[in-house]
Amino acid sequence: MTTNAPRVLIVGDGLAGCLVAWELYRRDCQFSVWSDGSPAASDVAAGMFNPVSFKRILPQWDARAQQDAARARYEWIGEQLGETLWRDVPIVRVFPNEEYAERWTGRAAGGHGVSPFIERYDADQLHPSISAPYGAGLVPDAGWVNVVAMTSASRAKWQSMGRWEQRSWRMSDGCPDGFDAVVDCRGTGAVEDLSEFGLELRRNHGEVLRVKPDQDWGDRIVNNVTWALPLGDGTYRVGSTYRWDVHTPVCLEETPAHLVQGAAKARTGEGTVEVLEHRAGLRPTCFDRRPILGVISNKHPHYHACVGWGTRGVSIGPTVVRWTVEALLGEREAVPDEVHPKRFRTFTEN
Ligand SMILES: Cc1cc2nc3c(=O)[nH]c(=O)nc-3n(C[C@H](O)[C@H](O)[C@H](O)COP(=O)(O)OP(=O)(O)OC[C@H]3O[C@@H](n4cnc5c(N)ncnc54)[C@H](O)[C@@H]3O)c2cc1C
Repeated sequence: MTTNAPRVLIVGDGLAGCLVAWELYRRDCQFSVWSDGSPAASDVAAGMFNPVSFKRILPQWDARAQQDAARARYEWIGEQLGETLWRDVPIVRVFPNEEYAERWTGRAAGGHGVSPFIERYDADQLHPSISAPYGAGLVPDAGWVNVVAMTSASRAKWQSMGRWEQRSWRMSDGCPDGFDAVVDCRGTGAVEDLSEFGLELRRNHGEVLRVKPDQDWGDRIVNNVTWALPLGDGTYRVGSTYRWDVHTPVCLEETPAHLVQGAAKARTGEGTVEVLEHRAGLRPTCFDRRPILGVISNKHPHYHACVGWGTRGVSIGPTVVRWTVEALLGEREAVPDEVHPKRFRTFTEN
């Protein structure tokens, strides 16, 4: 055990709490995990990583560095748990129209920030189930992480080490006895406490399905806005929805038909699709799609935020957790400005 290192309470055991715990475990620091068992976005996440923003065909935030860090970290955690967590599965992007196809083809040819991440996909390379009248592109360096397997196996490990408790915590509880610091990984559970500091964490409602089509949809992720991710057993995850007007993680009745129709538009056949599973969650999201990290108030110096992971928790997680823990341990003065609470115009450090 590292001497003089702070004893850290991690609140929340979704993806964020899990990765913070592993970062501290690696460094031989003392930590405990508390979770109140409320619904976690991480129990719903498809776990996909994709270095490209499809809407405008641009690279994601610091895509290469974050994805390299993510791969190394998930592979290491997988070794610790005896599980294969990281799966490389290219994404086939079905073009929506001629203009998009031209833009993609131009950028794939080189000379653009996104060029290293995208390729043009020839029609004869396409799986026969895919319908792509305007053509398709490929993102070779994509895939998914089995988030549910990782968080549940990690929880079992911390439990077996006596480092996990089912317990609730909120900011008014302060720093509990026996701890020197609290890392807040409560996802949308932190909304009310952060609002006291003018920090708006928004709940973005999302749903995913697991389906079994009666035709083979191939072994690549296919994205035509709706995406279908092969799980390797003839079933596919299909998602997802994004809503700001639903603030509880409820499964909406109309969603399965909507998502199945969306996925079917990228397919040639008329086949039937059986819905096996339907899940909903709330993504903890900030206005600029960046998380909120680090100390937010001089009056609560023990409190370190690690929330607001949005739609891309899997890719950004290992990097933003490293920043959070480095700042907590005094290895860096503060977290980078782009994830610091001071970027909120409404931030009040009271
Ligand atoms: C439908 C859907 C699909 C998604 N797909 C992807 C994807 O493909 N790729 C990707 O990168 N991301 C995806 N995401 C986003 C991803 O789920 C999030 O970025 C990530 O899971 C957030 O993790 P978190 O640990 O911050 O929050 P959560 O997973 O919500 O965890 C919060 C934790 O805090 C606990 N908690 C809350 N309040 C308290 C309290 N008061 N006391 C104690 N514990 C508390 C909860 O029980 C839970 O354990 C998806 C999300 C949704 C909803």
